[in-house]
Amino acid sequence: MQDKKVIEVNHLSKKFGETDVLKDINGTVKSGQVICVIGPSGAGKSTFLRCLNLLEKPTSGEVKFDGTDLTHVSSKQLLDLRERMGMVFQSFNLFPNMTVLKNLMLAPIRVKHMSEAEAEKTAIALLDRVGLKEKANAYPSSLSGGQQQRVAIARALAMNPEVMLFDEPTSALDPEMVGEVLEVMQELANEGMTMVVVTHEMGFAKSVADEVWFMADGYILERSSPDDMFEHPKNDRAKDFIGKII
Ligand code: ADP
Ligand code: MG
Repeated sequence: MQDKKVIEVNHLSKKFGETDVLKDINGTVKSGQVICVIGPSGAGKSTFLRCLNLLEKPTSGEVKFDGTDLTHVSSKQLLDLRERMGMVFQSFNLFPNMTVLKNLMLAPIRVKHMSEAEAEKTAIALLDRVGLKEKANAYPSSLSGGQQQRVAIARALAMNPEVMLFDEPTSALDPEMVGEVLEVMQELANEGMTMVVVTHEMGFAKSVADEVWFMADGYILERSSPDDMFEHPKNDRAKDFIGKII
């Protein structure tokens, strides 16, 4: 099981108009692995992550999820497969007009046809897991950024995904709230969740990541263990970048 390929990317490229944003990207994410993706702004990290669940359509190449190439499935199949991948963004994107509890219940009821009672039970258990059970009936605007992001993670988990994609989940937060979100992510990783995380949080990457991928100019220029990447990067661009973030 441990060696099962959850995501496999082959010769992925993405153009926006004439601009090559991703160039011949290859990579494999195995079951239970945590991959951290780092790199300068504009490197293509968000585009890469969005290609993994086809929120962005690749220009060419394959993106396989659990063995199925997402670039060659019907839109119905794509929706079914995408349900199995959770995504958390920099901006929390909670539904502002719904309580925290309803935010978590919506997709399981609408998409998975879960009963209201079951969805509520699952939602409360997940809120407990992220330490926010007492906020079930609060509206998102009354929560801190860190709390909102923890709700966003719980909402993604409510669909029982097989992989979680995180795009700079802590970079919009005040510094004092970063820790509580990383802690939830660390627990998730400890429980064996397969994760791809765009983040520059070195402490998190060092303690949680199996591999760190450095991206620049639409390429993955280096893949290393966190210790090698942060202590002894080989690629010159990676050296330069890491020198600036440390
Ligand atoms: P990163 O997340 O590493 O900062 P992005 O994936 O957001 O990088 O962007 C990579 C490049 O692609 C940037 O030059 C950006 O301007 C461009 N880009 C991203 N999304 C679009 C889009 N929808 N249309 C045109 N260009 C885009
Ligand atoms: Mg980005």
